[in-house]
Amino acid sequence: MYYVSTRNKMLEFTPAQAISQGLSREGGLFLPASLPKLPGHALENLKDMSYQQRAVYIMGMYLTHFTTAELTAYAAKAYGPEKFDAKEVVPVRKVDENTYCLELWHGPTCAFKDLALQMLPHLLTASMRKTYDNRTVCILVATSGDTGKAAMEGFRDVDQTKILVFYPKDGVSEVQALQMKTQEGDNVGVCSVVGNFDDAQTGVKTLFSDEELREDLNEENTFLSSANSINWGRVLPQIVYYVSAYCDLLKAGSIQQGDPINICVPTGNFGNILAAYYAREMGVPIGKLICASNSNNVLTDFLKTGTYDRNRPFYNTVSPSMDILISSNLERLLYSLSEGDDAKVAGYMAELNEKGTYTIDDKMMEKLQKVFAAGCTSEEETKATIGKLWKEHQYLIDTHTAVAFHVLEQYRAETGDQTPAVVASTASPFKFCDAVLQAIGVEDRAEGPALLDQLAEVTGVPTPRPLAGLRDKEVRFDGWVNKEQMKAVVKGFAK
Ligand SMILES: *Cc1c(COP(=O)(O)O)cnc(C)c1O
Repeated sequence: MYYVSTRNKMLEFTPAQAISQGLSREGGLFLPASLPKLPGHALENLKDMSYQQRAVYIMGMYLTHFTTAELTAYAAKAYGPEKFDAKEVVPVRKVDENTYCLELWHGPTCAFKDLALQMLPHLLTASMRKTYDNRTVCILVATSGDTGKAAMEGFRDVDQTKILVFYPKDGVSEVQALQMKTQEGDNVGVCSVVGNFDDAQTGVKTLFSDEELREDLNEENTFLSSANSINWGRVLPQIVYYVSAYCDLLKAGSIQQGDPINICVPTGNFGNILAAYYAREMGVPIGKLICASNSNNVLTDFLKTGTYDRNRPFYNTVSPSMDILISSNLERLLYSLSEGDDAKVAGYMAELNEKGTYTIDDKMMEKLQKVFAAGCTSEEETKATIGKLWKEHQYLIDTHTAVAFHVLEQYRAETGDQTPAVVASTASPFKFCDAVLQAIGVEDRAEGPALLDQLAEVTGVPTPRPLAGLRDKEVRFDGWVNKEQMKAVVKGFAK
């Protein structure tokens, strides 16, 4: 299988080239030239496999230059019991008669990004070997909170790699900031940036296309790569859990082979829901993909009207990992919807860059609406949803997952569609203690790490192990910079 860029499909890349390079030179994103299809009995067979085996099978369909033995070794390391505190890795929990929750936060940093970022270091270092690259890769990450921590946990002390994370100074939760400031490992660096997530992300993107920086690092035998969800190695492991969720529902007898399910995903950069789209394209019987946004509802408008318009106010919300105005991975969807019209995709992206807006054509819009539904929630609705699930089902969810539950409810009320639905639960509620405590009616709230104990005491739900240890960790990274200083930070770090 070969990979192409969304903005130029003339050049072909091996999976290893696509993963080690991360982003195509002309700014496009890599994706498979054509998507593989699951053979007829695949889901029946996968049903009886472990999560690790499912991962080897699905990823193997996309990584044709990797051996089964290689992928088996990576899956064992990435998704083993030292890393995930659930033996199913990604358990599917029944919430009510036709609503299920896919708990994606049982990994080392308690967010769904662990599923991809525990795997990516293996894929990336193997890709470098396969492309005979003996340089050091310096991973640059812009994070709205969860990616940075998950990426550092994945890459810490991995040979031939360094990782530097930028996060918006006032755009992450206390627990998230603490998780990053206390990160261990000899090859890691963390720095906060004045501004919001888009400032940090734009800053990082600019560095990637900085020729002078590239040459400078080259002299140190170092090159820049990304662990943001623009890297194909991030998207691929996420496809696995949507296939896996279907298999688990089959296995539990909740659905029969061929029955459709809907999937509702709290969305920011469009990586997670894009993986669900790929699972659907592979042949998993998925009806609608429901895209859930918070007050930063640029995607809701796009999916309803066909016009993407980033010229709008930016809100800091209680679901900070979705506070995004430019959803990078949407570009991959545009490529599929336009049936691989690279020039058209490049045109839309140029318009986005120049005017902040573009409108897709009618044919693409028709296809888009066949598959996707969308909705958004206010801060009050998000909190009310946490309170409601806790009260009615004794099920504690985080602020991002709550956005999805609320949008699913809206969707059902509007359409009457009662297809069984799987909600992607993207983070542990313990990452967002303050907002969650407030949502379940606790007025008098603690501060800092004591919030974790308070949430555990009030609810009787135990604090996840990786977060319980935070208070005793030494703060290693406390600095902040302006956007203009990011380049200097990278130069200093990479040497
Ligand atoms: C990153 C993140 C999201 C958004 O996922 P995308 O792939 O960027 O759409 C949602 N929830 C949480 C908790 C996250 O960390």
